Amino acid sequence: MFSLKQTQAILTALPDPVFILTRSGKYANILGGTDTRYYHNGSALIGRFFSEVLVAEKANWFMQQIALALQSGQMLVVEYQLAGSDVLGLEDGPDEPIWFEGRIQPLAFQIDGEDAVLWVASNITARHQLQQRLLHLSEVDELSHLYNRRKLRSQLDSQFSLFHRHQTPCSLLVFDLDFFKQLNDACGHPTGDCVIEAVGRVCLQTVREEDLAARYGGDEFAVLMPHTNTQQAWSLADRLRRKIQHVLLQMDLPQICTSISGGISEFLPSDEKVETIIQRADRGLYMAKNLGRNRICCEHPD
Ligand code: GH3
Ligand code: MG
Repeated sequence: MFSLKQTQAILTALPDPVFILTRSGKYANILGGTDTRYYHNGSALIGRFFSEVLVAEKANWFMQQIALALQSGQMLVVEYQLAGSDVLGLEDGPDEPIWFEGRIQPLAFQIDGEDAVLWVASNITARHQLQQRLLHLSEVDELSHLYNRRKLRSQLDSQFSLFHRHQTPCSLLVFDLDFFKQLNDACGHPTGDCVIEAVGRVCLQTVREEDLAARYGGDEFAVLMPHTNTQQAWSLADRLRRKIQHVLLQMDLPQICTSISGGISEFLPSDEKVETIIQRADRGLYMAKNLGRNRICCEHPD
């Protein structure tokens, strides 16, 4: 139907690049890749090995994927990122990290005495960025910039399973702004929103990397603290309380809502569900409100 020359011209014209790669990690050939919006000219790679052009970690990863595809005898689909820093000595390598989908198809014949695969690389950076953006929107509260209730719930579920498997301590702080409704009534909702934003900022600056701070709803927040017992959680919570008070007192607002009240709940082996932990933290919070607010309380376990 097509002459050999025409077939070669068609392969050369393919928009996505097609790499012919051997088991030992050699670029036996590169076809296509004509869509210059997404791909750099890779012809300089032909005849070279991954180890010559990629950092060791990436080179090993590519070799592993080829071995997996060859072992299964089926097409393998992978997603990966390549940054300029991954590429050794390639003049026009990518500046920004680029995300690719690789479709790796084992070939039914050998090349230069080696098993080989056909690796079609498609630039999926735009899709990846959109996915990340959607994930962010689905997990983060836009006012406080803290995680939302949904994300907190899923992390509570994970930590609850881990706790019952390994018994490493874990604590939950639930806290609520004092007299926030009065501030809203006196100064308006936008002022209340500024306070929620400020509290979010303090949480992000104060909690440790392994902690998860969330806006639980309204003027209620939560901090999930893995590997933390009641005493440690209380010190962290009280530090947070003092910092929030310091920041709220410095805001140019009537001094109505200047503090938080909180309750702490350490996971207990007798807890059969996550709700029990949340309810115990809530009881600590109500205790703090009843004792005069601006404090962190913890219900004494029986
Ligand atoms: P307490 O010290 O007992 O907590 O009293 P409070 O006035 O803070 O009372 P409460 O916690 O029940 O009030 C929560 C208020 O938070 C009520 C609601 O109008 C307000 N609120 C909920 N979500 C938002 C929001 O997104 N922005 C603003 N500005 N206000 C909110
Ligand atoms: Mg409140």
